[in-house]
Amino acid sequence: MAIVGAGPAGLTCAYFLAKMGYKTTVYEAQPLGGGMLGIAVPEFRLPRYVIEEEIDYIKNCGVDILYDSPIDATHTVNDLLSEGFRAVFIAPGAQASMRTGIPGEEEELAGVYYGLKFLTDVRTGADIRLQGKVIVIGGGNVAIDAARTALRVGAGDVQIFYRRTREEMPAWEKDIEEALEEGIVLNLHWAPKRILHHNGKVTGMEFVQSQTKYDDDGRARLSVDDKTVQRVDAEAVIISIGQAPDVSFLSRDSQIERSLWGSLEVNANTLATNIPGIFSGGDFITGPSTVIQAIASGRRAAIAINKYIHGDASRVEIIDEKTAMPSEAGLALEDETAKDQARVDVDLEKPEDRVKDFREVEKGYAQNDEAHREAKRCLRCDLERERREL
Ligand SMILES: Cc1cc2nc3c(=O)[nH]c(=O)nc-3n(C[C@H](O)[C@H](O)[C@H](O)COP(=O)(O)OP(=O)(O)OC[C@H]3O[C@@H](n4cnc5c(N)ncnc54)[C@H](O)[C@@H]3O)c2cc1C
Repeated sequence: MAIVGAGPAGLTCAYFLAKMGYKTTVYEAQPLGGGMLGIAVPEFRLPRYVIEEEIDYIKNCGVDILYDSPIDATHTVNDLLSEGFRAVFIAPGAQASMRTGIPGEEEELAGVYYGLKFLTDVRTGADIRLQGKVIVIGGGNVAIDAARTALRVGAGDVQIFYRRTREEMPAWEKDIEEALEEGIVLNLHWAPKRILHHNGKVTGMEFVQSQTKYDDDGRARLSVDDKTVQRVDAEAVIISIGQAPDVSFLSRDSQIERSLWGSLEVNANTLATNIPGIFSGGDFITGPSTVIQAIASGRRAAIAINKYIHGDASRVEIIDEKTAMPSEAGLALEDETAKDQARVDVDLEKPEDRVKDFREVEKGYAQNDEAHREAKRCLRCDLERERREL
């Protein structure tokens, strides 16, 4: 089996295939694995050693990972099939940064960065230093991570500008909260209008006021008020308005059917493409999503590939074992869920200390009793449902 991409989707698929007894090789373009977790999510949220431990475990299950080995026009997915691989899972993620299309963006200005590339460069050791005022555009995980990283590489004042409400921001609330604690300022309802520049260098941005409006059929659209304009000075601008899949590396595999929105067309149940033996999943198919969705997709693909090899055309069924628990099993509701127990808060480094470097922000459960309390919390969500139904 061949896998394209050592991100959460690819590694999970490789892991399950290896457990089923297949010889599995992962082709990874970068010199290190983990996908976005390894090259973009900052060290202060996810230290490298955690990813290394997971990858070592997967390798010990018999998976071969070939680094610096992109699948591209010189070594295609078709080539993999000709080389004897019986199935291929394509999971290269959503690597292309979306552009705003506003004036100034085309100028290749010094001081303009794209969130994903900025994070990847910093995480992989590029010497990037910022200073003064930095504007970050966007409201997703990448924007928040870019803003927090900007502080750690020297920015004095970081301001995030987002077009909609805080509730509409796709970033996790916990991370937004931590960013605010670190002194990052959130400006809501401002859409980017133009990048201001002088002598090839960014000097600031212009924003117009914006808000979400709903059509009669309930569809959300962004409404901007061109007359309410705000100018903000800045030494750098980080554009983080989203990522998209990039299918250009598949140029010579043109018989694989593309989807209308620029990815591949796959069967939603089996993740099979139109070419027998070629499957695809993760962010590459869904667009930017979450780690757990990518992992689920990798597992689904492994099950589908195993069925394909055995000529089994039935659907992939993944049974949710939690909700499959029989109610007559005499479950000890009182013992486990007598009272709601909130998650035990994890200690964090102090905001003023954590912006000084890339050390992990979460300190974990320092004391045994905290760890025990958290470990004893009931995660039997099916019991919650039964309790409500009683
Ligand atoms: C900054 C940031 C913060 C995030 N924070 C969170 C979070 O807090 N929680 C959460 O759940 N999710 C978060 N996400 C999203 C999460 O990381 C992704 O949803 C997940 O990594 C997608 O997994 P994937 O395997 O589909 O793709 P990816 O993780 O993108 O992995 C794809 C892999 O394929 C490789 N590749 C690409 N092209 C080729 C090629 N041609 N040949 C060989 N290899 C190739 C890439 O180098 C990469 O290693 C975040 C993402 C980013 C960028």
